[in-house]
Amino acid sequence: MRCKVLMTVTDLCESCKINEMNVVEESDDPNQPYKLCDQCHKRLLKRSLRPIEWYNLAVIHSPKKFLLHDDFYEEDGEACQPEEDVIVNKKDKAPTLRDVRNDLESLLDFSITRWFLEEDVIKELKKYDTLTTLNYVKSRFYETNNYEVKSRLLEIAADVLGTSASAWVRELWKNYDEEFLYPLSWATASSLPTEEGLHNIFEQLKGTSEKELPIAAFTCLYRFRSSNVLDWMESTCTIFNDNWGRLAAVCFPTWERMKSWLKNGRPLSLIALDTMANCVKGYGDIYVQQFSPKILGTDKSKVDQVLNDYFQKDDVPRVKMKLTRILENKKEIFE
Ligand SMILES: [Zn+2]
Repeated sequence: MRCKVLMTVTDLCESCKINEMNVVEESDDPNQPYKLCDQCHKRLLKRSLRPIEWYNLAVIHSPKKFLLHDDFYEEDGEACQPEEDVIVNKKDKAPTLRDVRNDLESLLDFSITRWFLEEDVIKELKKYDTLTTLNYVKSRFYETNNYEVKSRLLEIAADVLGTSASAWVRELWKNYDEEFLYPLSWATASSLPTEEGLHNIFEQLKGTSEKELPIAAFTCLYRFRSSNVLDWMESTCTIFNDNWGRLAAVCFPTWERMKSWLKNGRPLSLIALDTMANCVKGYGDIYVQQFSPKILGTDKSKVDQVLNDYFQKDDVPRVKMKLTRILENKKEIFE
């Protein structure tokens, strides 16, 4: 057996990567303290890190940790409320996407330091061979215990790797960790066959409370855009909630389905009205709007009559308000 002492090399400060580390500072994650030199430690506590120091820490700890988050630093690592002057020389600048895009490891570092995984980074990641990227993503995932970093790697699986991540995603379901339900759901939507993916997620959602279910369901399921989700909603929705209409709108709802939900009464009838209203630009949110949802297969000559018939049975102000909005925007909603 090798002696541990022999294996120890001097650790460098996680922030400047130049000095030896000699301070351990607690972070929000008790399992992952900051390991720093004295100077960087002081600068961290005074929200006065240089951009490259912020960046190096964000690669390891994510930019979402309290001492690194966006109240204190811009996305290029510039301190916004430093308690002491920050002198930034050229060598202290954080890398830009241009600087890192030709090296996959550096590009993955960069992607971890972003608050959101945006299209420009996804586009650069897609230029690499997916199996090579998958191997790097997996090894980073298992190397760290950091929740945000792991989640970002799953987002990369979702947005960049697609079906080439399917074996890995199956492995993650086998060793399911509920902490990662959301990002794992996104990776599942892009990598596994719809029925298999939905089955896994529906099973997990069974344990969710009635109050939490609508937002959890939206977050896990919106990327599937599957009519199977609408079938599931019919047997699952017990209360009205805004998230049900958001979810239904992106799952290719048909006019036939909307009519049957209206006939069914509350809560499905209210969800149907919300589903239709969510097809109007400026009503839904960015997640819904990016898909430009429509109600499909509509018999347009019947819309007014069907909606007015419903109002006869449920003539409350909020129904009236929603009907007005739908009827005013019929062209945009129905196809
Ligand atoms: Zn340092």
